[in-house]
Amino acid sequence: MANMWMTAAAFVLALAAMPLRLISVADEIKLGNEAQRSLRKEVPEVGGAAATYLARIGRRLAAHAKGPRYPYSFSIANYREINAFALPGGPVWVHRGAMEAAANESQLAGVLAHEVAHIARRHAADQISKGAVANGLLGLLGAVLGNSGGARTAQIGAQVLAGGYMMKFSRDDEREADRFGLEIMRSAGWDARGLLEFMQTLRARAGRDPGSVEVFLSTHPSPADRVERLRAQLRGVPKGGTRDSAEFQRVRGTLKRMAPARAMPK
Ligand SMILES: [Zn+2]
Repeated sequence: MANMWMTAAAFVLALAAMPLRLISVADEIKLGNEAQRSLRKEVPEVGGAAATYLARIGRRLAAHAKGPRYPYSFSIANYREINAFALPGGPVWVHRGAMEAAANESQLAGVLAHEVAHIARRHAADQISKGAVANGLLGLLGAVLGNSGGARTAQIGAQVLAGGYMMKFSRDDEREADRFGLEIMRSAGWDARGLLEFMQTLRARAGRDPGSVEVFLSTHPSPADRVERLRAQLRGVPKGGTRDSAEFQRVRGTLKRMAPARAMPK
């Protein structure tokens, strides 16, 4: 008996010491699909030319993200708060407020690249695995891994969405997403300074209109920290890459003329 406990303890310690990847890429995709289905029922979405445009920018970035070939998708939530988030296995959402706050295309690309990086680096798999261990849901996760399907997957999907559907990643994950995001932007051909500029905008907004960045700040490290870090990472990076496009400005104009975006339900 004692032996068994020691084995179990060693197992848990080993888990704590490494990035937890108890779920496969296929499971991540399955969970993300489940979560996406629930979100689609709740979240007001912006369609039309703006959505087509966002998907094109997103796909171009995703094509340059190393890692598993996830079925990436990009959607616009019709909410005024500045925010963006990634579900496990591919779905990325950007709030309309974030698209309107971006001053040029490279800033929007920066926001998307950060979210794509979370997915490509499998940060959700780490968080779900840690969460499952912490909440005694290993059995449930095992059921999903064992492919017993439907209802159980939905339960884990619900766990993913619990607490307002946005996953809270670790500080290290956030740093990695910024670093990897810069790489993705550069190899996809955008000026990587766009991400830094967007963080500067957020920092300014936090003083002027705290309500518009509250959600973002609850799931991300402070923009001030990120500005400093990004600045250091961009030192020595040669200037160049796309900064803006007429299409981005057209889409932004259309969004700004639409009926005001809703406030996100609390
Ligand atoms: Zn993030």
